[in-house]
Amino acid sequence: MRKIIHADMDAFYASVEQRDNPELRGKPVIVAWKCTRSVVCAASYEARAFGVRSAMPAMRAERLCPTAIFIAPDFPRYREVSRGVREIFRRHTDLIEPVSLDEAYLDVTENKTGLPTATLVARAIRDRIRQELNLTASAGVAPNKFLAKLASDWRKPDGLFVIQPDEVDAFLLPLPVGRLPGVGKVTEEKLAKLGIRTGKELRGLELAVLEHEFGRYGVRLYELARGIDQSEVVPDRPTQSISVEDTIERDLTLDELEPTIRRLAERLWSASRKERRAARTVVLKLKTSEFKTLTRSHTPSYPPSSCEELTAIALKLREHVDLGSQQRYRLVGVGLSNFREPERATAQPVLFE
Ligand SMILES: [Mg+2]
Repeated sequence: MRKIIHADMDAFYASVEQRDNPELRGKPVIVAWKCTRSVVCAASYEARAFGVRSAMPAMRAERLCPTAIFIAPDFPRYREVSRGVREIFRRHTDLIEPVSLDEAYLDVTENKTGLPTATLVARAIRDRIRQELNLTASAGVAPNKFLAKLASDWRKPDGLFVIQPDEVDAFLLPLPVGRLPGVGKVTEEKLAKLGIRTGKELRGLELAVLEHEFGRYGVRLYELARGIDQSEVVPDRPTQSISVEDTIERDLTLDELEPTIRRLAERLWSASRKERRAARTVVLKLKTSEFKTLTRSHTPSYPPSSCEELTAIALKLREHVDLGSQQRYRLVGVGLSNFREPERATAQPVLFE
């Protein structure tokens, strides 16, 4: 029997902003770029009271909560805080699976500190996060990942909820099926048509029926209804590199590639922001009309801290290509590699995005 903790920082980015700027405390804070196509990265609980949610278009959030204070996200800083949280986790276990900067699964079946129960480990972690980082985390403790995740949500914010092995049924049977992982609107409606609204009703369905209705996911539903989830906590396998590339419609010269490189750098930048760590090296990849591939790279002393910086480096890498200005290219790519743990705060330059 495993002992799993799901730890989830409360309104993480917004809480970091409120922690670091006392004027923001107690106020509706929305972490987002305030432009037409951007979405809410995080909302303080004061903003959530107006219906603002993560991933909602920023413009909609502003309509819902006109008094909200918008703060441009500062991912390098959130990554740094996230690293501090991870350090606290690591005192208890090395089996840590980060889901995002603010969320992770921990397998504490065996833990380093000798605390007798997973509940005590979760409590210790929450205490240290509060004392050392001045932030709050909610935690769920359960015999597996899916129940731990449900549990961490149960007493949010700043809550701890434990599902003991002998309490699984009491928790699961009355649960609306929409709360189960993977059950979205469509599945929920389909289940409702079968007369299934709760965990208990779902458990009444035979495996063959579920498989017939939902294919492979039906098997998963059958297991979820019984509190079964064998998935393991998979420790982070650090990303080595990420890249994006485009085959161009007609072959272009290096000069003509500028708009394409800008577009690729933008895509790469948003992909890289999902990474907990920052990448040091920027790579430009080119394939000539004659199918010759070449790469050029540059490693600045600090990881690029904005899309503009990344774009500038990628564009400048063209100067290191010496095939002449008439050479044409059929493919271009931009990449980031050499991912590093964020440096300590003191070593970081001031970063604005
Ligand atoms: Mg969170």
